[in-house]
Amino acid sequence: MPFAVRIEPGTDVKLAEISPDDDGGLEKIDGERLADDLGDVLTELQEELFAAGMTGLLIVLQGRDTAGKDGTIRHLLKYMNAQSTYVAAFKVPTPKELAHDYLWRVHAATPGRGETAIFNRSHYEDVLVVRVHDLVPKHVWSKRYDHINEFERLLSDAGTVIVKLFLHITKEEQEQRLLDREKEVEKAWKLNPNDWKERAYWDAYTEAYEVALSKCSTEDAPWYVIPSNRKWFRNLAVTEVLVETLRQHKNDWRDRLAEMSRLAKADLEAYRQEKGAASG
Ligand code: ADP
Repeated sequence: MPFAVRIEPGTDVKLAEISPDDDGGLEKIDGERLADDLGDVLTELQEELFAAGMTGLLIVLQGRDTAGKDGTIRHLLKYMNAQSTYVAAFKVPTPKELAHDYLWRVHAATPGRGETAIFNRSHYEDVLVVRVHDLVPKHVWSKRYDHINEFERLLSDAGTVIVKLFLHITKEEQEQRLLDREKEVEKAWKLNPNDWKERAYWDAYTEAYEVALSKCSTEDAPWYVIPSNRKWFRNLAVTEVLVETLRQHKNDWRDRLAEMSRLAKADLEAYRQEKGAASG
């Protein structure tokens, strides 16, 4: 049974209909064990993706403040190869970035074939925070859903697998997590008054997320809503989505790897024969 909710293209998303509390009917200990087993499968699949060098993997992480983007990245990196994986964080654009189109900085951070990129926030901020705070006029941001779909289609046509994950928490859970940050010394460095200010815009963000998830979930680049009030379940659901997505490409990668092995063996054999002929 899938733990994440895949947004079927063309669906009108209502976040209130998806429970952030979902636990898949599992106990925490069983969920953690399952996530770890799936993590080992993820390691193998990512190794094949890297070695075959045919496909890049782009993981887009979005969520409200405290939704667990950092924790999700820490979880995934336990199973991913540092040689072929990197994280790109998208913050308030710099003057140089603002002097370009909004996808300029994003395109530059996309993964090449064999690479995995994890986006901590993404081009979706340009239809989320930008829309909620009127950072550009409506006639500018309203065109961006089409741009984004075209951009992601371009990436997909070039061999990039795109997995988009929205970490879904409740307003109560966010409050609890913000208060915990104040109480716990190890978490206090994350305190940011802006997180409390943004809470006032909760409903506007809900609407902005619903529109983005509805308009920009496509066959090439589907959105998944991840119930994230329970961190262990969030990790499980995210790992499962990645494993299920990458599995679909496994046979192509194995065929390529078998072909690469055949060619490498033939090269080695030719070298040995040449060497034997020269010394004989
Ligand atoms: P995070 O909250 O992701 O841990 P920060 O506290 O540095 O990291 O927050 C990054 C901030 O940058 C967020 O408030 C986010 O909304 C903002 N941001 C990201 N992209 C854009 C954008 N294109 N336009 C305006 N603000 C953006």
